[in-house]
Amino acid sequence: MKTQVTSLFRSVFGREPEFVTRAPGRIEFIGNHTDYNGGTVLGASIDRGVWAAIAKRDDGKRRFYSKFSDTLLEFPATAPVRQTGDANWVNYPLGVIAAMPAFGLRAPGGFDFCDLSDLPPGSGMSSSAAIELSSALAFLGITGQVEKTPRETVVKIGKHAENHFVGVPCGILDQGVSGFGKKDHLVFIDCLGPRFATVPMPAGAHFWIFNTHTKHALVDGLYAARNRECMEAAKALGVSLLVETSLPALEASREKLSADAYKRARHVLEEIDRVARVTAALERGDLPVVGQLLVASHRSSQHQFENSTGTLDTLVDALVETPHVYGARLTGGGFGGAVMALTDAAFGEAEVSAVIAAYAKKHGGAKPDVLHCQTGDGAAVM
Ligand code: ADP
Ligand code: MG
Repeated sequence: MKTQVTSLFRSVFGREPEFVTRAPGRIEFIGNHTDYNGGTVLGASIDRGVWAAIAKRDDGKRRFYSKFSDTLLEFPATAPVRQTGDANWVNYPLGVIAAMPAFGLRAPGGFDFCDLSDLPPGSGMSSSAAIELSSALAFLGITGQVEKTPRETVVKIGKHAENHFVGVPCGILDQGVSGFGKKDHLVFIDCLGPRFATVPMPAGAHFWIFNTHTKHALVDGLYAARNRECMEAAKALGVSLLVETSLPALEASREKLSADAYKRARHVLEEIDRVARVTAALERGDLPVVGQLLVASHRSSQHQFENSTGTLDTLVDALVETPHVYGARLTGGGFGGAVMALTDAAFGEAEVSAVIAAYAKKHGGAKPDVLHCQTGDGAAVM
């Protein structure tokens, strides 16, 4: 991919790039809706991502090219950075430029920039965090600020761009995993700090993503409603975030909560507990227990948090009956999207076909997209 993005840069701009950077996509391994409740989460950076190439220009023009839209876009470095329209990919790198001064960093002047990706967008693997972090490292590269910028700041710049410029109220999970990822490891994030650590992934574990391409029509509103229910539950329990209370305290105060708020809070608290148990099982190399906890997480999403869908449940139901599968769960916010399966090395074409057939039978012949990924290193100048 480094050769490919370099030759793309050459063919678009007719010269050599000064820096090539890469940031991976991520899988939410476990820790569902725990981030904005101050909890913990485990994610994996994967072997697919967004590559960026950049070189300075001295005429004050910022030029962007992506196969994503196949057009060369140009903005003067002297004008304030503004959004160019909701669905436009260039808002991600522009949002990064707009965020840099807020972190005490110099924004770049003129440059030529292009990117190339092997990460399908909108498939639950956070291509948005990957374009943010690869472009952040590219801009830090041409302004000579890579070495002095802590990794946590790079992560926060990406999140800032997504929250305040693109306008998606995501937590720290996506950028944190892309920024702190390490091959053969998972990233553990304590979202309150935030604090980042890596946990070794036992050998022989494989990830498969089954993307349903289904999305609940009211997904944004449902996401916001879950957030509100969690905050209401916390308030009724006398804390500011659910992470500050416990399952016994929740049980003792059950009558103070609506039936829904109780179920949401219980999901979040049990999920935080599951993150700790998965971390301990990973340290012991016990993949069967990890798999059981992944399935327990999904069932809790299905019945308590109610952010699963029939399509996601079909995939999990089929996967848990399939040989070589340790476990499976919805990955990401839910209300549609993708399921992740953790498997051993022998899981392959025959097993995938069986899962696809079970899905097609239940959902009018529809087929999920299937991707096999491994863990990969976090964002870096290459
Ligand atoms: P996800 O992060 O789950 O993949 P999002 O909707 O958050 O989905 O982000 C997808 C958006 O990110 C795309 O619509 C596009 O604007 C931007 N994007 C993704 N990949 C690239 C890329 N390689 N180059 C430029 N922009 C990209
Ligand atoms: Mg995203």
